[in-house]
Amino acid sequence: MTAPTPSAAPGLDVYGMTRAEFRTWAEGLGLPGFRGEQAFHAFSRGARSFHEVKGLPRELAVRLEAAIPLGVPQESRRQESNDGTVKSLLSLHDGRLVECVSIPTATRHTICVSSQVGCAVGCTFCASGQNGLERDLTAGEIVYQVLFHHARRPVTNIVFMGSGEPLFNYDQVLKAIRVLAEVEGLGLGRRRFTVSTSGVPARIRQLGVDEPQVTLALSLHAPDDETRSRIVPLNRRWPLAELMAAMADYAGSVNRRMTLEYVLLADANMAPEQASALAELARRFQAHINLIPFNPVTETVHQRPSTLQVEEFAARVQISGGNVTVRGQRGADIDAACGQLRRRVLQAPPDPQAAT
Ligand code: SAH
Ligand code: SF4
Repeated sequence: MTAPTPSAAPGLDVYGMTRAEFRTWAEGLGLPGFRGEQAFHAFSRGARSFHEVKGLPRELAVRLEAAIPLGVPQESRRQESNDGTVKSLLSLHDGRLVECVSIPTATRHTICVSSQVGCAVGCTFCASGQNGLERDLTAGEIVYQVLFHHARRPVTNIVFMGSGEPLFNYDQVLKAIRVLAEVEGLGLGRRRFTVSTSGVPARIRQLGVDEPQVTLALSLHAPDDETRSRIVPLNRRWPLAELMAAMADYAGSVNRRMTLEYVLLADANMAPEQASALAELARRFQAHINLIPFNPVTETVHQRPSTLQVEEFAARVQISGGNVTVRGQRGADIDAACGQLRRRVLQAPPDPQAAT
């Protein structure tokens, strides 16, 4: 069976269309362009059917609703952490499952979105990559993850840190950002988006040109090729020298500080010399370093470091001149690491009671 491509979505990808595309769509149906704008206004705020489009004559809404399947995602699971983090598993029109996480703080409401179902990269510590890639998400399927949580509280920030490698679904990811940034829609500024990547040099350069205001987070996880090739298989295709050359070009075309992500694996990447090499790499780009203690995933070989090991590693990075934060464990009690809830649901034996 071949994996369906995004074009397999039925009907219209309404959450992934710009205002201009809605106008063109309406005109193509012989309707005035403003009908398209009315539809954009409603769907860009999370409407779930043509009946929710304000100003649309009832007969027209009935006709469109009957003719155009929207395949609106449905929440199939939900986990709420006692720190306020909510993780939802959305079921897509073809039954595929995708995770999105809402992370509220006093001043922000950040949504962690997925860009693909599964992931082809297969990092050894990550639940998302363990079954490979199932398919890309459409722009609308990405945007909907944001709209879904926006209904609870206005969204302020978006991070592409759910399942999937965003730079392997570049066009749909960029489209999603553009739709969410449209001033007549949610109007989220470009600076509110962070794209996290395991390292695709050509796309990193392209992102710097196409969207210089979006923040880039590079999932480095090791400062030497030997370790990195072991835990991030993409490194065998694009080793550090190539990746760093792309980062240098990126840094030259943007005016933003980038982030280096570093998952702390007690058994793999926490030697003292790795701490100083990490700091040195970060200094080259004036990047901020996020240390993320490994969130244990079933079927991976890795060990979570102790608090003391984390503190020692962070101190070494700092002494070597690295600007470092240890990322707090938001939603640790609800499988909040990338891909974990979906994987647990897919692995669970069939239980009709469980699908609440
Ligand atoms: N594919 C992209 C974006 C999704 S992963 C990337 O790799 O950057 C987002 C972040 O979650 C990455 O930094 C990844 O390393 C981290 N991550 C994945 N599994 C994890 C786990 N089990 N514990 C801690 N962090 C994890
Ligand atoms: Fe894919 Fe990112 Fe997980 Fe690696 S960490 S398998 S690139 S989602």
